[in-house]
Amino acid sequence: MTTLFKYDKGIKFLKKPENLTLIADPTTVKAAENCDATLITHAHTDHSLAFPNEGIRVYSTEIASQLFESLTARKTRNTKFIELEKTININDVEVKFIPAGHLLGAAQIVFYFDDLTICYTGDISTDKMITVPKAAVPEDEVDILITEATYGKGDLFFDSRERIKTSILKWVAENLQKNKVPVINMGHLGPAQEIIAYLNEMLSVDIYCDNRTSEINKIYQKEGHNLQWNRFDLLNDSELKDERSVVLLPRAAKEIPEFLKSHKISRGIVTGQASRFAYSSFEQAFPFSMHANCNELLEHVKAVNPQKVYTLYGFDSDFAAIVRQKLKLFARPIKMPKNRLTLEEFL
Ligand SMILES: [Zn+2]
Ligand SMILES: [Zn+2]
Repeated sequence: MTTLFKYDKGIKFLKKPENLTLIADPTTVKAAENCDATLITHAHTDHSLAFPNEGIRVYSTEIASQLFESLTARKTRNTKFIELEKTININDVEVKFIPAGHLLGAAQIVFYFDDLTICYTGDISTDKMITVPKAAVPEDEVDILITEATYGKGDLFFDSRERIKTSILKWVAENLQKNKVPVINMGHLGPAQEIIAYLNEMLSVDIYCDNRTSEINKIYQKEGHNLQWNRFDLLNDSELKDERSVVLLPRAAKEIPEFLKSHKISRGIVTGQASRFAYSSFEQAFPFSMHANCNELLEHVKAVNPQKVYTLYGFDSDFAAIVRQKLKLFARPIKMPKNRLTLEEFL
């Protein structure tokens, strides 16, 4: 018996002699079509595009499936829900989904093949936050770790999440004092819910967001996160109180919504990419991310303590070099540099 794996628009596993194929986080539907089973770690669309398909058997957490539906307004199909921390059997392979942090319902996947135990992290964060636990370390010995490397570059630094949150809070409070409405762009699945939860805890303000973010918030709420927010598309202009309103926009939104045009505003953006790029059209950029930074990734690899490390997403080559140098482990990107994902797909 042998297990082979490679990157081919998703992480493909081939179990011999049965010729059983599994794929994790396929980036296209086609990539999953000839596989016996498809596993999806979380709802972000660079991982989850195989959800809405008839012919494919998909395994994911129930929350990942619900978040995908809210995020894309598309229905998931043919999905079997997996509980975290429960070992299940998929076509005679034991598999366990364990917490990944990063986003509600996000999982790392541990595959117990006969000859190899392989852990694929999906996207992870290793800090306990308000809306997510920290990424778990598999209890069992892992031979192969396939880890994300979105921010796996040594000189990409972001400060502790607590400190960045405090600076967001300070900036929001200062602007409200000047009767300026803080308008903050951020990822509407993950970062938005964490920042809403934080602002709810710290300040008495009215938070406004768009309809799609609102649908996502409802799922967090159903899971016990008591988020408080309003939809700005349902707002009459006269209702917006300058001294106590905060508006959240999706990260890529360039246009200021019409209702804000009669108000004084101050624009900020929340993204881990602020540790790499200047965001000059914003007054303030906050490098807050729901991805592990380079040191956190390295600590996670150390804690998992695998025989070999394969890196994926973002700075895969840089992070493999760091693992080789600092941990003296075999490490390389699971795919070759010419296939690099674009910036958009990292997120
Ligand atoms: Zn993600
Ligand atoms: Zn991702």
